[in-house]
Amino acid sequence: MPTLRAFLNSVATVLVLSIAAPATAQSDGPIPVVATFSILGDMVKRIGGQHVALTTLVGPDGDTHVYQPTPADARAVSEAKILVVNGLEFEGWLDRLIDASNFRGTRVVATDGIKPLSNEHDDHDMHDDHAKHDDHDKHDDHAKHDDHAKHDDHDKRDDHAKHDDHEGHDHGAFDPHAWQSLRNAVAYVNNITAALALANPVNAADFYQNRAAYVAEIKNLDSKIREVVAKLPVKNRTVVTSHDAFQYFGRDYGFEFVAPQGLSTESEASAKDVARLIRQIRKQGIRAVFIENIGDPRLLKRIADETQAVIGGTLYPGALSGPDGPAPSYLDLMRHNAMTLAEALTP
Ligand SMILES: [Zn+2]
Repeated sequence: MPTLRAFLNSVATVLVLSIAAPATAQSDGPIPVVATFSILGDMVKRIGGQHVALTTLVGPDGDTHVYQPTPADARAVSEAKILVVNGLEFEGWLDRLIDASNFRGTRVVATDGIKPLSNEHDDHDMHDDHAKHDDHDKHDDHAKHDDHAKHDDHDKRDDHAKHDDHEGHDHGAFDPHAWQSLRNAVAYVNNITAALALANPVNAADFYQNRAAYVAEIKNLDSKIREVVAKLPVKNRTVVTSHDAFQYFGRDYGFEFVAPQGLSTESEASAKDVARLIRQIRKQGIRAVFIENIGDPRLLKRIADETQAVIGGTLYPGALSGPDGPAPSYLDLMRHNAMTLAEALTP
């Protein structure tokens, strides 16, 4: 019996140690944080610094709209104390990933508190035409596409989902690309800072200090972009991009963006949408079309070939470039987009 008791005691000791050890390690070491895509990852790095151990799911040049999480992603989420997401239904795959990973930490929705733009662009020529034609010509594309993206929806649910997608251009009620406004970025930064400070109060002062420096840079860049854009003639400020990712940028700086694809890269542009866009480019004398770092540039190149528009450069709608590219950080991305537009549109 004494041997058994000794054995049980030692088991108990080992158990206590093995429970206590990771807890100690966690409070001392960096906080495990997962960010869903590269822009959020960059913000977390700026604010969290050495106090976070960051995993970014969708990396540089990756397309979050059509991303498919991996088992490694589920593992990272299951170990995370904080999960930073964009929200506004940008990460359509998120709920399934969270279910698969048994996540027990805090989910931070970076867009909390911003005023989201509706995904209806009523003031667009494109949109009016859309409403009229949607039921007819988009149907085939959709049916094809649904097989890929929605393989777990079936039968009646599928019909329902398809119908909703039509009304809402593949997404929720709001445009998710809110990081394309530097003013919104301040809200993103505040949400991330508050969550890190709550999870790791010991280092809260560092987080708030990093936040202050970052917000100053954000505001500085915002005024610089305003200065540059102010020199562009208003009639030059309508441009074409692949998908509708720049409405917040357009609102802040007085550009109008039109795109053959909707709010998501999930759906393909229909032949009629493309023909309509080409007519609009000719009619309004739109000077430039811009390709995107995510996705296939061929459609935009064809549109440029068929009109007098030039390819104005590459814009970064929702993913950073790699370290050697022009947009390795969020602020670089915003600066690059603004300067690329300004260079192409300066008379
Ligand atoms: Zn997008």
